[in-house]
Amino acid sequence: MTLAPAFDLSELSDEEQLARREAHRVAEEVLRPAAQALDAMSPSERVASGSPFFAAMATLKSLGYHRLFVSADSAGREDPAAWRVRSLVVEELGWGSLGLATAFLVDMLPFVSVARFGTDELRAELLQPWLEDEVASWHGCWAITEPDHGSDYLGLRDDDPGSFGRSGLLATRSEGGWVLRGQKSAWVSSAPVATHAAVHAQVASERDLHHSLFAVVPLDDPGVRRGPPVAMLGVRDDPQGELFFDEVFVPDHRVLVPPGPLYPVFGDQLLCMTSSIIALAAVGVARAAFEEALAYARSRVQGGRVIASHKNIQLTLYGMFERVETARAYARAVLAHTFRNVLGAGSSGTGASPRHTRTSQVYCKRVAFEVAHDAVQVCGASGLVQGTLVERLFRDARSLLIEDGTVEVLGLDAARDLVGNYEHDHYDVEEMMQRW
Ligand SMILES: Cc1cc2nc3c(=O)[nH]c(=O)nc-3n(C[C@H](O)[C@H](O)[C@H](O)COP(=O)(O)OP(=O)(O)OC[C@H]3O[C@@H](n4cnc5c(N)ncnc54)[C@H](O)[C@@H]3O)c2cc1C
Repeated sequence: MTLAPAFDLSELSDEEQLARREAHRVAEEVLRPAAQALDAMSPSERVASGSPFFAAMATLKSLGYHRLFVSADSAGREDPAAWRVRSLVVEELGWGSLGLATAFLVDMLPFVSVARFGTDELRAELLQPWLEDEVASWHGCWAITEPDHGSDYLGLRDDDPGSFGRSGLLATRSEGGWVLRGQKSAWVSSAPVATHAAVHAQVASERDLHHSLFAVVPLDDPGVRRGPPVAMLGVRDDPQGELFFDEVFVPDHRVLVPPGPLYPVFGDQLLCMTSSIIALAAVGVARAAFEEALAYARSRVQGGRVIASHKNIQLTLYGMFERVETARAYARAVLAHTFRNVLGAGSSGTGASPRHTRTSQVYCKRVAFEVAHDAVQVCGASGLVQGTLVERLFRDARSLLIEDGTVEVLGLDAARDLVGNYEHDHYDVEEMMQRW
């Protein structure tokens, strides 16, 4: 498979071209075969020792991709060019495997949060070893949703978050820290294999899940239990499962954000980061589906000629290409803006734009699904055969419409902000679009 697109509006430097080629090689030679093998395994085989999941993660660690997202210096200043390489790498990872790209993303969450919110002591204890890890002996996850609260975590901007009720994970004050009791949902990505979790927990004395703390919890701490990995339609190459907290003690220094309203940290910072990254992984999925359809259309003969010469197929391919290209351009601009304004803004920085990051995530997820859907149609019955790449991309793209927030609820979150604040927009959209 050639590395597309050959033409790139962003005029990459030699170093960036090299980074993209290397990420593509890894996606093609390591992630795709691992994803294909994992997809065909049972949930318990996927998490057993020797599973291709661990080898794939070790490859990404050995190449240092996890370090790409922690490039701010001690004063919180971002390397202005870092986000260009981030965009290129994440798109290639998504092209190789959405599940392994998701695992790569959630691995970072606890540790990037330590970099952003943690004390020097915590950075030395957790961030430094994670940064130095080259064999994937550390792996993070992000425990947000609960059996009774999925979309509720995105609806917290509502006027009356109290109507959502109490969280399924409560934190009670104890000498020198907090005690966690409760559980998170069965959908926590990488939970069955993770070593650390970034956890949101409601303060038990408060009335609702809106009042919470944010902590990092080593998953070998006493009282932590995991549920079995679940069998899902798509993104099977990143195992998902429950986390239970039975009287788990979290010392104060592992509390990253002390008790307070959840939304400013969860919605304005963390979700802006993950939305802008997932958008580019979705572009990778869409491009993979487009390229599969193009290759098939060039070789499949019907009506006495290759189907790529039939006008309907040509227009379908054009529509796929158009969506991939426009999604990429927007997603790159938003990712650049987000990381400059979250990681690059020092400890007080909260200038990322929820409405633009949600738009990027929703748009790119929809593009991934629409393009994967078209790819199945172009491939005819061949696109429905279990175990083919097009069939897996379609299942993965369908899962994307729910992962990290449903497209409807993400859209509603952005809409609330638009309706309330559009005329007072303080995000410099011109600057956002020119930066790439
Ligand atoms: C592949 C995958 C990976 C995931 N990874 C993680 C992870 O790493 N960590 C984690 O904590 N969670 C994770 N999740 C969970 C994910 O965030 C939730 O599935 C998602 O937020 C939706 O929640 P829910 O499934 O409970 O659906 P619900 O919230 O029950 O929603 C059901 C339907 O109702 C709609 N709806 C819900 N509330 C509203 C509302 N207020 N207004 C209008 N419509 C509404 C939704 O759009 C949806 O169509 C993952 C899920 C998937 C599929």
